[in-house]
Amino acid sequence: MSHDLFEAARTAMGFAYAPYSKFPVGAAIRADDGKVYAGANIENISFPQGWCAEPTAIGAMIMGGAKKIVEIAVIAEKLPLCPPCGGCRQKIAEFASPSTRIYLCDETGVKETMTINELLPHSFKTEVIG
Ligand SMILES: [Zn+2]
Repeated sequence: MSHDLFEAARTAMGFAYAPYSKFPVGAAIRADDGKVYAGANIENISFPQGWCAEPTAIGAMIMGGAKKIVEIAVIAEKLPLCPPCGGCRQKIAEFASPSTRIYLCDETGVKETMTINELLPHSFKTEVIG
């Protein structure tokens, strides 16, 4: 992973809106168009209405016109490793191939690299819908 993806995730974490959990998270995607799309978690006083950093980055990627996640970095300053939550794994899988790399970072850089297939080996999918 090039350093710019990590830096984008760390910068995005600084934009987190997390007044309730005080648990900022940043995510950065390198997409199939070669661009980096970043996002942070955005909470809400009605707690279930908040969302994670990964879907913010996915939304930016889609609105930027890209279609696929090539690689993604995730960072949370309060955890040595912040693997995406279950729901985010499914959201990432929607736009990834099984070998898409996920970089789990701390403040200094990448600490562990996994594929989406390792994180979510049995993602929901169906041939019926396509
Ligand atoms: Zn999540």
